[in-house]
Amino acid sequence: MSWYERSFRKLFFDFHTHSSAVEVAKDFDAETWAEQLLKAHVQAVSTIVQCRYGWRYYQKGSIGWVHPRLPKDIDIVGETISACHERGIRVIGYYHTLGSEMLAAIRPEWLERDPLGRPQDIWICLLSPALKEYIIPQLEEFNRNYDIDGMFFDFSYAKGPCFCQSCRRSFKEDTGLELPLDRESPYWKKFMEWKLEKFKEIRQEISDAVHRGNPDVLVAFNWCYSTRMPEKPPKDVGFLSLDICPDNQVFNASMQARFWATMSKPFDIMNTAFLQWWGDWGIKPAIALKQECATIIANGGRTWIGYQMYPQFRVEAAVMSQLAEALAFVKEREHFCVNQKIQPYIAISHSTRSNLIQVSFHVDEKSIKGAHKILLESGFHYNIVLDEILENEIGKYKAIILPDQRYISDRFAEALRDFVNNGGGLIATCLTGTLDEDLNFTGKFKLEDLFGVSLDGKYPYDHAYMEILDERLKTNVLEMPILVWGELIYVKPKSAEILAHLRGIYLRSDGKPLLASSPPGAYTGYPMITLNKFGKGKVAYVACDVFSSYLLKNQWVIKHVIKNILNLILPEKLVEVNAPAGVEVVLAEQEGRRLIHLVNHYGERPLSPWPFGDNNALTENIIPIHNIVVKVKCNEKPTRIKLEPEGEELKWKKEGDMISILVPKLEIHSCIIIEL
Ligand SMILES: [Zn+2]
Repeated sequence: MSWYERSFRKLFFDFHTHSSAVEVAKDFDAETWAEQLLKAHVQAVSTIVQCRYGWRYYQKGSIGWVHPRLPKDIDIVGETISACHERGIRVIGYYHTLGSEMLAAIRPEWLERDPLGRPQDIWICLLSPALKEYIIPQLEEFNRNYDIDGMFFDFSYAKGPCFCQSCRRSFKEDTGLELPLDRESPYWKKFMEWKLEKFKEIRQEISDAVHRGNPDVLVAFNWCYSTRMPEKPPKDVGFLSLDICPDNQVFNASMQARFWATMSKPFDIMNTAFLQWWGDWGIKPAIALKQECATIIANGGRTWIGYQMYPQFRVEAAVMSQLAEALAFVKEREHFCVNQKIQPYIAISHSTRSNLIQVSFHVDEKSIKGAHKILLESGFHYNIVLDEILENEIGKYKAIILPDQRYISDRFAEALRDFVNNGGGLIATCLTGTLDEDLNFTGKFKLEDLFGVSLDGKYPYDHAYMEILDERLKTNVLEMPILVWGELIYVKPKSAEILAHLRGIYLRSDGKPLLASSPPGAYTGYPMITLNKFGKGKVAYVACDVFSSYLLKNQWVIKHVIKNILNLILPEKLVEVNAPAGVEVVLAEQEGRRLIHLVNHYGERPLSPWPFGDNNALTENIIPIHNIVVKVKCNEKPTRIKLEPEGEELKWKKEGDMISILVPKLEIHSCIIIEL
């Protein structure tokens, strides 16, 4: 196991310092700093190699520019490494690949440009000669000179278009085309695909440069390979990491961790201690940080809590105390998180290519997020899995969800057929599998035989009604037409049975909806939900993107419909939890023991007016959940069942091939451990 895999407790501190900042590193003292970190239970910490203004904070080496106001006798990086290593703390260097005040001044031709050729702030284009002439030699020199353990690169991904001379020339050389100036261009998809490939090469060059300097350094790229930029990480990436968005870091951390847990790379999720986000000096209470850390470690990740320093190189003692309290919480739980293997059960498929039809480099995550929300709130254990990975490991899962996944490769289609034929359950929605290899709409389902329905056109409005017919889908569902939003599809049943009708909307005599939305209208003659038997398995098809509809409009009834569908198509149940919607469930194994993590997402949060402005979710006190009944499939007879970290023996009984376990009280995060 690498030092990184053992390091569950990390802290990250931003130190972006403009050239005009005063008192830079005035209070820096590496020994005092390392002692503070040790006291806060830190196993690894960041250090600032190069900030967003392009200044370096180390003295050895000739490439790059030391911050003009950093005293000559201070080497923040070198002294931090020495003091931390003496105390057994690992150090990860932060390097911002985008910004540089100095390069913007002396090499303006390397700056990113808008379509009119105007420079973009101090942002350097990584497709310009800056990469080979400056960044690569600097990284090689730095990693030769300093005994750093890891390098964390920020902004090393395709975040949007750039129209500099280098980008124009390079695109023309590679494709023979002029660089498209806007998203309406017929070459936009090609441009996106090209730029994503270019950045794969750029990251490889960065990794290679680091490893030429020191082959043992672990390299990570912020946000790359996440649900927002789904891609399989290459072998030279040492670990995965991202600073999740701040709106609700418990929910967001859970989603990313459930994606990365399937990538065969160690990962961390960076929750942030700010009240808002980077650039804000407020601090969350430790309890909020604990709740965020809980879902990260339960789902197989490590923590890396982010904050920022004053330019003098100082962090308030009160801030350090909140961080220390959160890390102590993690430390208490490491013994049942280390080396755990997350158990495959239900997979929500995610795809790189499907997203190229979107116009943004950051993929639209609404369907994935909606599916995550529904499954989390319904007490299921599940993961989000990249299609390229899923097609090779599909046999491990019991059910697959394709949330409006429009591109399905031939290999993935074959894997899905085998999977269902052998008894697997499948849910597909909306226009799943309707794009060809060039990402053009085909007008028919690639998986028509699996769905048992054929595509017959698109419903003309942006909302409609779901009318449930089948008794099996009615548990906890109100007996009324259910309003759903988004794109809707007409399908004709071939071999599938109809479980719900697609009802249209009421229209005025001028053909328009009554108000912003309309009440139910007539039955369209088309189904909304169907069920098809294929081999030994079952396939449910839903004619709209129910997942984004739930996320955007909070149509809570949909959640119960999906839960009922999943219960219908799942060939067997591995776990069932009788708890409120905010209790997250993670199934894992650890050296022959079975683990069931329970994470409480509820908390006492600021009341009205909330949410207000851009304020984020923030827990001030935990609201404990009592008497949770967990049923888990287990053919063997347990020798002991206990709750950790409480160390409490739990009451349980065998019910057929399931074990029923009573958890008297859940605070933030507890784990049921079944010893066999
Ligand atoms: Zn460029």
